[in-house]
Amino acid sequence: MTGLVTIRVALRLVTTLASLTLLAVASPQCLLVAWSAPPIPAGDAPACAVAFDEHFVTQTMRVDYYHSGNADEDRIAVERIIRDGVWAGSRTRLTDPLDLGLYGFEVRDQQSQQLLYAQRFCSVFGEWQTTAPARQHWGTFHASLRFPWPRQPVEVTLKQRHGGTWRTLWTTTIDPHSRFVINADPPVQHPVWTVLENGPVEQKVDLLLLADGYTAGEMEKFHADAQRMTDRLFTVEPFQSRRADFNVRAIDVPSSQSGVAQPRDGVFHRSALGCQYNTFDLERYVLTCDNRTLRDVASAAPYDYLVILLNNSKYGGGGIYNDQTTVAVDCPAADYILVHELGHHLAGLGDEYYVSQVAYETGKRPRFEPWEPNITALLDGHALKWGDLVSPGTPIPTPWAKEAFETAARAQQRQAPKPVQTASGEDDAQSPAVAREPQRATAEILQASPYAGRIGAFEGASYEAHGLYRPAIDCIMFSRNPAGFCAVCQRAIAQAIDQHTAVSIADR
Ligand SMILES: [Zn+2]
Repeated sequence: MTGLVTIRVALRLVTTLASLTLLAVASPQCLLVAWSAPPIPAGDAPACAVAFDEHFVTQTMRVDYYHSGNADEDRIAVERIIRDGVWAGSRTRLTDPLDLGLYGFEVRDQQSQQLLYAQRFCSVFGEWQTTAPARQHWGTFHASLRFPWPRQPVEVTLKQRHGGTWRTLWTTTIDPHSRFVINADPPVQHPVWTVLENGPVEQKVDLLLLADGYTAGEMEKFHADAQRMTDRLFTVEPFQSRRADFNVRAIDVPSSQSGVAQPRDGVFHRSALGCQYNTFDLERYVLTCDNRTLRDVASAAPYDYLVILLNNSKYGGGGIYNDQTTVAVDCPAADYILVHELGHHLAGLGDEYYVSQVAYETGKRPRFEPWEPNITALLDGHALKWGDLVSPGTPIPTPWAKEAFETAARAQQRQAPKPVQTASGEDDAQSPAVAREPQRATAEILQASPYAGRIGAFEGASYEAHGLYRPAIDCIMFSRNPAGFCAVCQRAIAQAIDQHTAVSIADR
């Protein structure tokens, strides 16, 4: 099982949760002011995609808000509306057709009510809302909605997936010319540099790597880590085949101390971006809840996705759909963590694993089809959403050695040593020798299946032993075995990439 196995398992209560070589590019350059935002143009923009230019200019509007509530209630309060740098998203695909995530927001022309922009996402609040503390007290989390800067007043509506439908959480009207909308250049705080450049931001997936837990004296290490992690990402499909569809940039963000906070280990650093282990008190879950700082720092560069590199060796990371990815770059499994978490972040993939010491089982059959593209409940009356990828002759559900796998997995968990911090801070249980050994028995069971490598519907997924199914017997979303992404996960990631790279018919 993956080392992140305890991460979201404890989050899952009853509610379904929603995680080479470089091209010939010049060596990284410091571009301190390269993306400082130009003023919003007052007149007509040059013709490109007509619909975009009719309604938007090529800047980003950012609505910062607080999402407060408990397990049953939600409150939304706007903090501020600001300009957030150039718009890096597509100018031709402005509405999200994938229908993933726990939340979504829509931007409509106020006068005509025409839908101009729509995006789906998950959030830290959404995960916290499923934890035990949310049943006892209120919590509040900062978040942002980002969309191209509208020319005319718009209506913004935030929606939440509730069972099988969407419900409106909050709506407001925004006049981009209002004095309450902060139309000022974002502050440029730290150097931005290019890791991989392949083309215009509006036609590429723009990844932005940010340093957290690196001191000013460790920026050379950050540069090396950013290059290394980028190299590793593009050795895995479908990233490898789609490498030319990506730009990768990085920001040198110095912290006063080396490494981010690890509260359960008594380490209380206040790193620049506020990342910390033990998010929701889980050992290896790392996120930042300081969204305001994160977004302010990131506004110096165009981006679609934020990836925070943690200058730590203890196993850890996290990934939330259209929100953030974190990865501890010095732990032995860093490559795996990055790719797995980007599966959550880019494509809304669900965890396919389910065997865990702390697995929560509802004992109830799901009433709704999960929204994650790689998880199904096989409910009556629903066509299998990856049915076109099922290998010929593969039964649905697909038989596999489930009991033998679970027995072996539990034996491994009993044998696995408790994580011990070495003098260097490395998580000893995750040292290469220790980490590989526990996987061997289960890996052999998976590989021996007659349906290994095929697409079907294998029971056991998304922290549930029964009633939920995954597409393949093994996948990066299921284990740390070198299985790669299954075909269903690969397609989901490719579809996410397409949202950023597709050009309009007029541009072909
Ligand atoms: Zn998969």
